[in-house]
Amino acid sequence: MEKINYYNISIAEVNNFKDQGLRPKLALHACCAPCSSHTLEFLTPFFAVTIVYQNSNIYPKAEFKKRRDEVERFVREFNIKNNQDVKVVFLPYDHEAFMKELRVFASEKEGGKRCHLCYEKRIVEALKYGSENGFDYATTTLTISRQKNSQVINAIAKKIAPRYPNIKYFYSDFKKKAGLLRVREMKKEYNLYQQEYCGCEYSYRDTVLARNNKKDTENR
Ligand code: SF4
Repeated sequence: MEKINYYNISIAEVNNFKDQGLRPKLALHACCAPCSSHTLEFLTPFFAVTIVYQNSNIYPKAEFKKRRDEVERFVREFNIKNNQDVKVVFLPYDHEAFMKELRVFASEKEGGKRCHLCYEKRIVEALKYGSENGFDYATTTLTISRQKNSQVINAIAKKIAPRYPNIKYFYSDFKKKAGLLRVREMKKEYNLYQQEYCGCEYSYRDTVLARNNKKDTENR
């Protein structure tokens, strides 16, 4: 598959409207505070951003609450430091309903079919919320993650965006042009909580439990 430069596409898109003095409304699906950091820094000069926090993939609920509260704190501090007015909308948490279709892919490795469906469901929430609430664009922070393939995420968005014809999808590759470096810097600057696993119980099993088991074996 030929690689598409989504970073260049995102810059061309903002250039389309910024010279006209426009500041479109963007519904941003955000997974966590670290992934929101540079993403907001990138987007807020061009867009009036509202974070749509829908991450029912996260298990257990205590971890969901921790990440949700951290996003709220980060946005509050980001707004003060940068004289911005980013808003956050929290959609209801329903882990069992969210995981229903994903469980068939329980044994898939991270990055496989289970994750593709998980990305899709969360991008849909941003498109749906944006299209029902008068937004111009929707997108996700997911392309900033080192562990996630931006080509795959944008291809999924391309497939589902036509279902929401009254809103545009903002294609992105936030990790490009030192995006990841800025995440590292901003994590320190805002003292952000960094989770140890992606989100669902399967990622917990495959990262945290696997690491602990390895340590136990080494200590024997
Ligand atoms: S590993 Fe992450 S992206 Fe994949 S299904 Fe679990 S929570 Fe979703």
